[in-house]
Amino acid sequence: MFDRARDAGVRAAGFEWLGEQVIRYGDVLPRKILENGYVYNGERVPFIGPQGIFKPRFLQVPISITTVPKGPYNDFYGGDGFIRYRYRGTDQGHRDNRGLRLAMELEIPLAYFFCVAPGRYFATWPVFIVRDEPEKLTFSVAIDDAVHIGIRPDAKGYDPRIEDPFESGRRAYVTSTVRVRLHQRAFRERVLEAYRRQCAFCRLRHEEFLDAAHIIPDSAPEGEPLVTNGLALCNLHHSAFDRFFIGVRPDYIIEIRPDILREGDGPTLRHAIQGLHGQRIVLPAHTAHRPDPALLARRYDQYRENAIT
Ligand SMILES: [Zn+2]
Repeated sequence: MFDRARDAGVRAAGFEWLGEQVIRYGDVLPRKILENGYVYNGERVPFIGPQGIFKPRFLQVPISITTVPKGPYNDFYGGDGFIRYRYRGTDQGHRDNRGLRLAMELEIPLAYFFCVAPGRYFATWPVFIVRDEPEKLTFSVAIDDAVHIGIRPDAKGYDPRIEDPFESGRRAYVTSTVRVRLHQRAFRERVLEAYRRQCAFCRLRHEEFLDAAHIIPDSAPEGEPLVTNGLALCNLHHSAFDRFFIGVRPDYIIEIRPDILREGDGPTLRHAIQGLHGQRIVLPAHTAHRPDPALLARRYDQYRENAIT
């Protein structure tokens, strides 16, 4: 017999724990942390397993689903904006597939981990299984807002009996915002990896200060993230690049705006900005990951238009 209160307690504690990890590490978490999981009433609860659909030993319903993309991200979205999640194998009666079906019938929330780089997972929760299509061997997954639906570790967990007329619209909206965030995180992971986790201008290696800057602003935020439109930059150089203090020529040479070059100020301006003039940016080891010279040329033209000579 399914003990909803107990299940809800385990899950709510897990979601709270996930929230703490995200505060600490950001919403892309290392696999090791998810494998170790959390402790509930003296028992260790792992959050991820070797297969995509994962159920800890003492729960009856899976606690997480994981996607490791092998192709374009957009393959995962259906026309309704929800995420398509493939069955495990082709047997709809497989225990993992049955587990997700049970999560759908009982309206049980899960966590969703999306692999954005080897061993690194974008984490989002709560997600709900909202449709089962055996002929396509897929489930549909909707992402919801934990605060809105009232998942709290001190309470009895999520109560699906509360009718919510705005549920479907809210879930579609939340799912689309998470989709944009997922693409941003995937872009950051790929760009930082390509640049060996250092600033392309000053070589600063502390990831806490690194961003993936767009050479040309992302016109399609849900589009495929292209490393060739990115630069790994520290916060200071990201701002300086975005505000046209710094230009990068298509031959990868850095230029500092002439009026900034003439300024006399303290050591940060001298070393961290003016000192870059004429230097070459750090380039990814893989030629295919290097900034696209055509995009750099477009950006450099904008920089020239903004430069005060
Ligand atoms: Zn820098």
